[in-house]
Amino acid sequence: MNNQHLINRLLLVAASAAGLQAVWDFYQSSVAIALLDLVILLWLSGLMVLNQLSRRSFVPYCILASLSIILLVTGSIIPKENGLHLLFLPLLCSVFICFSYKQHLGKILGGGFILSCYLLLEVTDFRLFGNLPLLEEPDNISFTVNFIASGVALFLIFSFITHANYKAEKHLQEMADEAQQRSEELSKVNEELDRFVYSTSHDLRAPLLSVLGLIQLMEKKPADETMQSYMKMMRKRISNLEAFINDITAYARNARLPLQAEPVVLQELIEEVFNNHRFLYEEQPIELMKAVHFQEVLLLDRQRLNTVLNNLVANAIKYHRLQYPEARVTVDASLEGDELHLLVADNGPGIPPNVQARMFEMFYRGNERSGGSGLGLYIVKESIEKLGGRIRAESVYGEGSSFHLWVPVKRAAQEPLQDLSLSGAI
Ligand code: ADP
Repeated sequence: MNNQHLINRLLLVAASAAGLQAVWDFYQSSVAIALLDLVILLWLSGLMVLNQLSRRSFVPYCILASLSIILLVTGSIIPKENGLHLLFLPLLCSVFICFSYKQHLGKILGGGFILSCYLLLEVTDFRLFGNLPLLEEPDNISFTVNFIASGVALFLIFSFITHANYKAEKHLQEMADEAQQRSEELSKVNEELDRFVYSTSHDLRAPLLSVLGLIQLMEKKPADETMQSYMKMMRKRISNLEAFINDITAYARNARLPLQAEPVVLQELIEEVFNNHRFLYEEQPIELMKAVHFQEVLLLDRQRLNTVLNNLVANAIKYHRLQYPEARVTVDASLEGDELHLLVADNGPGIPPNVQARMFEMFYRGNERSGGSGLGLYIVKESIEKLGGRIRAESVYGEGSSFHLWVPVKRAAQEPLQDLSLSGAI
């Protein structure tokens, strides 16, 4: 049931009452008032048709204004004791079913008009038209009828409001259940997808490594120049593919596996990362520097931090200026309260603003020298989020780039280590 139906029901109750009153008044030989009843009956029927046919915004105003005026006029020509004014109360409450929750103006104007009509009756002592002779004698039956009619109307209005409230709550509950079910399905699909990516990338790596091994064997055999160049190209392509598979595995591992805190000596971890890249870019002489400004052993997820540092250092080397005499990549670590602050900085070519805006996106490559999957910085961002940290990149195009990251950590051991601040060149 919507409120248009309810309004019609209320109008029907009012029209039936007016019809019965007309018959009664005619029977009592009050022809004038019976005619007035008939006019009211016709007017109410018109309102019912209007309400049924049109959903325009002015209809509720018409209904409320008409009913108020009918009560005002009728209340002035029949005795106050007949209790017609009691009907102002359900009429005032019906404002809440004629206008929706957000139609504040409608409620204020409608309610204001109804109250004004009632107050006008009170102020004029129910004789708006002066001392005209009243068309009815005071009688108890009319009072009882009006009292019951106003009670029935109030009951209808409140049962509609509570029913609407119940329906809204039920609908909300159904929507919440559906959302819950969808989110469970989605997490299941996500989990399956991550498991699929993880096991596929794992399974792909084994045959790839054996192909690389076979190439190495072939390279040891005598071959003409063309064959050698083909083998070099194969090795390059397979290395690219391996790097891609590594990226996907790192992504899947980060998405799938929970955090695993373990004691980490940061100096060792950084050295390990540097060693991964020391001989990869032989054509680029780059100084790799590290500075660790604390001595504690930290408790954190070593695997994820390793992935993050590997990607940042790999990029810093890969995108550096070729043959730049003072090429340098620095990893600087310090403790700031409960956070580890890492800075990976290079004095390379810098990152253009348009690339900076998108470089953390999945599969985004901003450089023709990339040759990578465009996953590196995406994995960095995802891993840092999983570690509960944050990352900020700064770069001046033509001067270099700095990646700052902060990760929450705990101190694992109290014994101080030797100051291992080191630097080294490839
Ligand atoms: P990929 O290296 O596979 O292209 P990444 O997500 O690691 O993907 O990097 C995205 C882009 O950000 C790179 O293509 C490159 O243009 C830019 N970039 C990242 N790090 C640096 C850096 N240290 N110096 C210059 N450009 C960088």
